[in-house]
Amino acid sequence: MRTWIPDERFLPYMTWKQVEALPRDRALVVLPTAAIEQHGHHLPLATDTLLNNYLLGHALRRLPADLPVYALAPVCYGKSNEHIGFPGTFSLARDTFVSVLRDLGASLKAGGFRKLVFFNSHGGNHSLVDVMARDLRAELGLTTFCLFGGGPASGLSAQEAKYGFHAGEVETSLLLDATPDLVATDHYTASYIRRVGDPGTLMPEFAYATYAWLTRDVSPTGVMGDPAPSTAEHGRRWRDEMAGCIAQALVEMAAFEHTQP
Ligand SMILES: [Zn+2]
Repeated sequence: MRTWIPDERFLPYMTWKQVEALPRDRALVVLPTAAIEQHGHHLPLATDTLLNNYLLGHALRRLPADLPVYALAPVCYGKSNEHIGFPGTFSLARDTFVSVLRDLGASLKAGGFRKLVFFNSHGGNHSLVDVMARDLRAELGLTTFCLFGGGPASGLSAQEAKYGFHAGEVETSLLLDATPDLVATDHYTASYIRRVGDPGTLMPEFAYATYAWLTRDVSPTGVMGDPAPSTAEHGRRWRDEMAGCIAQALVEMAAFEHTQP
């Protein structure tokens, strides 16, 4: 697996004695959570895992050298059953995914660390990661955080900004910058789960009234969005914007402590 994480911030490259010597009581450890799942006809299965590593790596490079923030190896498999039926999607069951996060949190605590942030890059993991951040706070007393991507991408059409869920302009542009050899630019397809301006209050996401959906209900190719306008230049700009947002959040998390009321 390619990695953009700086070596000096990548825990798996250290010996246990080097880990022991870290300022573990105040260090912030990042656990990336991602997916191996279909991303249409034009992007690889590892898209969410690659983008996670790419954005996190560029964010970590922006941190002050003395800020104790370290990354773990990613949980590459996630809760991806919305893409089931597309060969190449490998999904963990809810309980499996939750157990992996709990076990890694317990290992972190046993190793003398106190602070954990989940950096998630796959929408299907979102709600479970949220629950586990709270559970590890309640059950283990860890100080836990969630980071979901790197904030909204600037300059998208309203349609793509709202409904470019999967393998659309943002993911495609980011990968055109990160790993252009893995993007099949002659195999773009487009479909949307809904149109901006459609009547009604029932929404697929981000609303008070929602319905559960599977990708096969929506898109024969697996794409939800339109990759056609994607460029590496857009990807580079969004990478920088997102890495800046992620770095800012990590700085605040590293300084954060719960205070008694
Ligand atoms: Zn994705």
